Amino acid sequence: MNEKELVAKYHIEDCTRCKNECAPACPVFRHYGTNHPQHLAKKFLAGGEREAGDHGLIRTCVTCAACTEACPFKVPFADFIRELRTGRTDYHPVFGGIIQQYQRTQALGAQKGAKGAKGALPASRARLSRLDASSRVAKEGEIALFTGCLALFDAVSGPSCEQGFGDMARSAVKLLNALGVSPVILDDERCCGRDLYDLGEREAFMALARHNAGEIAKSKARTILTICPECAFTLKDTYAKELGPQPFEVRHITEFVAENLEALGFRRGGEKPAFHDPCYLCRRLGESEAPRKILERLSVAKPVELERRGRSAPCCGAGSWVDHGPHTRAAVSERLMEAHRCGADTLVTACPKCTLLYHEVSPDCSWKQSPVTVRDLITLAASRLEE
Ligand code: SF4
Ligand code: SF4
Repeated sequence: MNEKELVAKYHIEDCTRCKNECAPACPVFRHYGTNHPQHLAKKFLAGGEREAGDHGLIRTCVTCAACTEACPFKVPFADFIRELRTGRTDYHPVFGGIIQQYQRTQALGAQKGAKGAKGALPASRARLSRLDASSRVAKEGEIALFTGCLALFDAVSGPSCEQGFGDMARSAVKLLNALGVSPVILDDERCCGRDLYDLGEREAFMALARHNAGEIAKSKARTILTICPECAFTLKDTYAKELGPQPFEVRHITEFVAENLEALGFRRGGEKPAFHDPCYLCRRLGESEAPRKILERLSVAKPVELERRGRSAPCCGAGSWVDHGPHTRAAVSERLMEAHRCGADTLVTACPKCTLLYHEVSPDCSWKQSPVTVRDLITLAASRLEE
């Protein structure tokens, strides 16, 4: 795509350099005070990639779309930046290196047609290691559970995350079993490809997308539930965009559980919770009510609402694990302090990436002065199920 086409596709000229509504919403600008989305637009319009190619946002943007949400003209900077990254290899991150390398290995295996589940990809199997004897799953059926990169997150998080990410898969299965569903677990599921897509590694993404679409077709599932909101948006929206219409419906698991909530009984706990909306759930999928409906059933106290919530919630800073510099620590610290200020003692979220980032980064943050615990909604709900 040439520069003129890029400007037209992402309507960059719509940026009127208004009152900069995007700036306070952008986690990068908010903490560095530089790398304004508007500056990127200005530079690109002035001299194309030659001018804008070294703009800081190309390395640091977490593709959270908070700028688009705040912008009166909805300029889609996250998508534009993803396109500017395509084919480049000179901005790769430090923190996410191991995660992305593993995802690239999965993509390479898919490109070569390798059967990874039993071979070179131990994390594909490890994602299910916490399923226990009581977990009922199926090989074929109407509803499948797409588990995502949980085992990989377990590998990088170490003991900092008290229950581990594999527990999210076990908890999701437990909730679905309580609703009478034995979900299909795909034999050779791989990363949905979101991170590599947002980093501009389109070829690797396409290999993963084709592979997963093929695995879903084999399972005959018509509804795919995901634990991660990014998987949900990617399977639903990006696969349809890049591969064409797909013969399955995709939902985030909170949507499915919320719809069937009356069939479940929960014991209420004593925490004062608040919900942190994950970017891909609230902005990309437009869902902020379902997780709140579940959360309301889990605690004696009514959940408190944070100052920034729903579509205006800030990014945790994970993105595609693109840059875990001072702005990430500041974003985590700021969010936990916000929860504390609003009267919550537990920040509940519904995204493995948010959970990982909060657990990884928070020990370095000043928020340690504020006793806010981070929990995953699905794990919390499963632990409170009445037997
Ligand atoms: S991107 Fe939108 S909010 Fe930001 S300066 Fe341009 S017009 Fe204003
Ligand atoms: S997508 Fe997020 S990180 Fe990127 S420019 Fe917009 S607000 Fe900033």
